[in-house]
Amino acid sequence: MSELVVIGGGPAGVTAALRARELGAEVILIEREKLGGTCTNGGCVPTRALAKAAGSCGTRSSLPTMASGAWGRG
Ligand SMILES: Cc1cc2nc3c(=O)[nH]c(=O)nc-3n(C[C@H](O)[C@H](O)[C@H](O)COP(=O)(O)OP(=O)(O)OC[C@H]3O[C@@H](n4cnc5c(N)ncnc54)[C@H](O)[C@@H]3O)c2cc1C
Repeated sequence: MSELVVIGGGPAGVTAALRARELGAEVILIEREKLGGTCTNGGCVPTRALAKAAGSCGTRSSLPTMASGAWGRG
C-alpha cells in the first residue's frame, strides 16, 4: 500500500487527498491554518457573500426581505 503526504488543505490539496484515497493510498493531509484554504476561508466564498450582500443592500426593494430574515434563501 502506498503512502502519500499532501501539504496544504485548500481545494487542490483536498482534491488530491480524496483522489489518492479513492485509489487506495494511505493519505496524511497537513494544513497549517484552516482547512479549505483561500477559496473557502478568504477568497471565493466570502467574496461572493459580501458581493451579494453589498448588491442587495443597494436595492431598496430587498431591504424588507433582508430585515425579515428571509434574505439568502431564495
Ligand atoms: C479574493 C479572492 C476571490 C476568489 N474568487 C474565486 C472564485 O470566485 N472562483 C474561483 O474559482 N476561484 C477564486 N479564487 C481563487 C481560489 O481561491 C484559488 O484558485 C484556490 O484557493 C487555489 O486552491 P489551492 O488549493 O491551490 O491553494 P489555497 O486555497 O491557497 O490552499 C493552500 C493551502 O495550503 C496551506 N499551506 C501552505 N503552505 C503550507 C505549509 N508549508 N504547511 C501546511 N499548509 C500549508 C495554506 O494554509 C492553504 O490553506 C479567489 C481568490 C481570492 C484571493
